[in-house]
Amino acid sequence: MRKSYYNHRKKHKVGFISLFIFLFLITGSVGYAVYAQTTVSQAKKEYNLLVNKIIEAEKDNIQIKDNIEKLQNTVKEKNNEYEVMLSKAKIAYLTFDDGPSSNTLPILDILDNYNIKATFFVNGHEGLEHLYKEIVNRGHVIANHTFSHDYKNVYDSIENFKSEVNKLNEFIESTTGTKPLKLLRFPGGSNNQISWSYSGKGFMSDLVTAMSKEGYTYFDWNVDSKDANAYRQKKTVIVKSVLDGAKYVQKANVLMHDLGPKTTTVEALPEVIEGLISQGFIFDTLSKDSYKPQFLKIK
Ligand SMILES: [Zn+2]
Repeated sequence: MRKSYYNHRKKHKVGFISLFIFLFLITGSVGYAVYAQTTVSQAKKEYNLLVNKIIEAEKDNIQIKDNIEKLQNTVKEKNNEYEVMLSKAKIAYLTFDDGPSSNTLPILDILDNYNIKATFFVNGHEGLEHLYKEIVNRGHVIANHTFSHDYKNVYDSIENFKSEVNKLNEFIESTTGTKPLKLLRFPGGSNNQISWSYSGKGFMSDLVTAMSKEGYTYFDWNVDSKDANAYRQKKTVIVKSVLDGAKYVQKANVLMHDLGPKTTTVEALPEVIEGLISQGFIFDTLSKDSYKPQFLKIK
């Protein structure tokens, strides 16, 4: 009887413990489930927020893209207008060959008076380094007309011509501190016949092709001041030659010389400029995209 009472109590105790464990497990898992539920819904909330943010950002992005496109179109339109205006404009490119010389500073002063920039096709004149610097410092363009201008040497061979051009480039760079643009004027022009006696009739077209391959743009001229037709040309002839020559062209590449004896070129310059202004010209320096009068056409 005692034994069964004991067994009965024991059974009770076991049952109580089992119930306790069972309850513990149930509340545990319910607690976990509640916790997991909270975490998931929190994550979902954050996820939804992010999705909304992305949608907003995409909207902003589309807006920005639209704005960029509109701006690009405006730039394109303005550029086209500018190109049209430029193609219709009367532009004079004053060019001075063979300098610098004792006339360079007077020429620069006159150009300054009219606030005009010009292009100087220089040669290599040792001892006049300060003038190259002055040309560049006053905003003009220095271009290549070979170091020596000595026909016998420059037109002796393509190699000689290239080394003349490179020698002058190095000289300009060392005196001005800037590399000159690859703009070239052949001594005597691209259709000169002086080179024939040194290298034959076909030489200039081979040379033009070779220099184009080196990345050079060459310019002859379409308005001749005729200041090279005499040792010291009459001032009136220079003025008349330029103004007559420019009358029927829209782009005028004006050939003049910056050499010691050419004092009448300096004297003629104010009248040349004023005459071109009254013909409606504006002035610019040469660049590779400028109007290019070229006597020798290479296919
Ligand atoms: Zn020359």
